Amino acid sequence: MPAAPRRHRAAAIALAALIALAASLAPASGSALAAAGGGVATGGTPRLADATCTSRCVAARKATPGATVRLIGIHLDSVARVVFQGGAGPLRAAVLRRESGEVRAKVPPRATSGRPYVVSEEGVSSNPSPKKLEVLPTSALPVQVFPVRGAHQYWDGFGAGRGHEGVDVGARCGTPLVAAQAGRVRYTKYHSAAGNYMIMNADRSDLEFGYMHLIRPASVKPGQHLSAGQLIGYVGETGNAQGCHLHFEVWKGVWYGGGSAIDPMPYLKAWDAGRRTG
Ligand SMILES: [Zn+2]
Repeated sequence: MPAAPRRHRAAAIALAALIALAASLAPASGSALAAAGGGVATGGTPRLADATCTSRCVAARKATPGATVRLIGIHLDSVARVVFQGGAGPLRAAVLRRESGEVRAKVPPRATSGRPYVVSEEGVSSNPSPKKLEVLPTSALPVQVFPVRGAHQYWDGFGAGRGHEGVDVGARCGTPLVAAQAGRVRYTKYHSAAGNYMIMNADRSDLEFGYMHLIRPASVKPGQHLSAGQLIGYVGETGNAQGCHLHFEVWKGVWYGGGSAIDPMPYLKAWDAGRRTG
């Protein structure tokens, strides 16, 4: 599924939630809405329609401590903090980003599952988010591993002044390559530039990973589900490659199907150091 329609659908859902929220508010605070409609920038009790996780997520409404959460609603332009539930009472978090329809905040270290709410600069609290936001331990995050299982070095990065869509990781030909995260194989093919390559879709995310220049065709099959660390092939230099290396790509959305290539380096560096990425 292409990423653009996916984003449109998410936007449509958010909009529908806001319309439903505005409709539900009309009898109670018609004047505030009328004032907002009349172009008055301030005022209005903040109202939340939803809270979803955007990084370090187990699922859309399953976050972990340190996760970034996006809260949508109305009258959020004066929100000063987000309040999460904690074992010993409410936990305040600073607002990372603020617009009239959304704010973002990080889940505090000791937060527990619950319905977060926001508080304006004037001290006015919103409703609790209508849907529960679960806070799970960091161990619930997907396992991630570095894709090259052996000595390696970083060669050309993303862009590299030539529209390079991935990061080149130099390693001896024959070094095992593994799934960086659990997911499903989408393609195993040959291309004159990419050589033997494999594309996989990571579970519980909209990320796709590409592995290029494999020494032989990938040892996995399209549709096959892979666990993190599962062998997919070996480093090679097939296609347009000078020297044995893995050309690794990370796409947000579908690989060459509406998604876009993003810089894999932050992911690779984190996995290389045994850290996780959202
Ligand atoms: Zn490359």
